[in-house]
Amino acid sequence: MKEGQGLVFDIQSFSVHDGPGSRTLVFLSGCPLRCQWCSNPEGLELRQRFLFSQAKCKYDKTNCKRCLKACPHGAISQNGDGKLHFDMAVCDTCQSHVCVDHCIYEAARLSGKWMTVDEVMKAILRDSQFWSQGGGVTFSGGEATLQKDFLLRLLRRCKESSVHRAIETTAHTSPKDFQEIFSFIDFALIDCKHMDSARHKEKTGVGNELILSNIATLANSGWKGRLVLRIPVIEGFNDDEANIMNVIGFMNANKLFEVNILPFHRLGDSKWSQLGRDYPYKAFEPTPKDTMRGIQDLFLDHGIACYVDEELA
Ligand code: SF4
Ligand code: SF4
Repeated sequence: MKEGQGLVFDIQSFSVHDGPGSRTLVFLSGCPLRCQWCSNPEGLELRQRFLFSQAKCKYDKTNCKRCLKACPHGAISQNGDGKLHFDMAVCDTCQSHVCVDHCIYEAARLSGKWMTVDEVMKAILRDSQFWSQGGGVTFSGGEATLQKDFLLRLLRRCKESSVHRAIETTAHTSPKDFQEIFSFIDFALIDCKHMDSARHKEKTGVGNELILSNIATLANSGWKGRLVLRIPVIEGFNDDEANIMNVIGFMNANKLFEVNILPFHRLGDSKWSQLGRDYPYKAFEPTPKDTMRGIQDLFLDHGIACYVDEELA
């Protein structure tokens, strides 16, 4: 951790899928969950990760060897196949990452950047003049609440500047922190990955008790914001009727009337490989349209507005 700074692994301008209007997305590193289908694996840990992109590397085209000469640990090898090979176990624990400074093509790079609140606010306010009506900032991750103090300082500053504040969260955080953070939030997309705690733990590494309890407490607290549950639909995990009916029961019990269902996609594949890891869902096909339609119908039949994919009303 760096005193007074937060680790931000991406800032994206003009998103139209993560809250009302067009928005600036701020991705904070670190997450207590380990969802096997994660598409942002470089943001899972609260530290910078080393990534190597074979596609960006110019070794085969220009015989570039800048990193090879710079690495003090002998972690890069050539084996005659026209590619460089990084020993990712060594690179993952490397303290200097000196090769990154020598790679002008960003083939070798670090995820994330330690930033001050002022630096992040500058990026948000720079975008703000281009937001459409109702736009604002959305904090995402990773799990943004993991860097609670940094997030709260950003939220206070956004509130002072009258910036609309949204969050995408797993809700897996202490009830006290959750309540404090939500006192600054106008709009929330909260994940509901499985209603059965053992199944939830199997695929995400944690049970769902804390998550469901935080959602229920928020929904019944008189909080004035808008809450949309979000389900990443994973075939064979949470797409069965029994699970969806349990979500509907939970929503009805807590007077929640909006859900966003997201089909699985393989967008994380390249990042897993840049980290030198196998993507656990590499062989998985995108969720069939029929499955999405069936789930949407179930929600609609029970009086719950259901937005498919990235469309939010
Ligand atoms: S410095 Fe970058 S582009 Fe050059 S060989 Fe190394 S990784 Fe590839
Ligand atoms: S990350 Fe460190 S060990 Fe790996 S190639 Fe770069 S300098 Fe060498």
